[in-house]
Amino acid sequence: MDHVKLAHFKKRLEEERKLVEQELKSLGVQDEHTPGGWDATPGDIDDTATEPDELADRIEELEGNEGEIKEIGAQKRNIERALAKIEEGAYGVCEISGHPIEEDRLEANPSARTCKAHIDDESRLTD
Ligand SMILES: [Zn+2]
Repeated sequence: MDHVKLAHFKKRLEEERKLVEQELKSLGVQDEHTPGGWDATPGDIDDTATEPDELADRIEELEGNEGEIKEIGAQKRNIERALAKIEEGAYGVCEISGHPIEEDRLEANPSARTCKAHIDDESRLTD
C-alpha cells in the first residue's frame, strides 16, 4: 500500500480511536488495576436513588454499559492493533490468509483484520 493511502487510513484510525475513547469515558471509568481496562459506571442516574424501581434502573443501566464497554473496548483494541501494523509496515494484510485486504473493505472498516473471503472468521481471531 502506498504512503498516501497509509496516511489516509492512519488518520481515519486515529479519529476512530478518539471517538471510542470518548464513548468509553461516557460509559465508565478507567480501571486502575487493568491497563486498558474500563469499569462501567451507572451513568447519569441519581446517585441517591433509594426506591427499588430506581435501583433496578441503575443496575440495568450499569449492566448495559458493561456490555457496551466490552464491545467498544474490543473495537479500541482493533484500532490500536491496526495502528501498530501501520508502524510495522504490515497494515492491510489478512490475518488468516496473508492476502491484501480489499481497499473498499478497509474504507468501510479501517481496523478490519481479514480480507472479504475471511470476514466470517474474523470473530474467531483472538488477541
Ligand atoms: Zn483472507
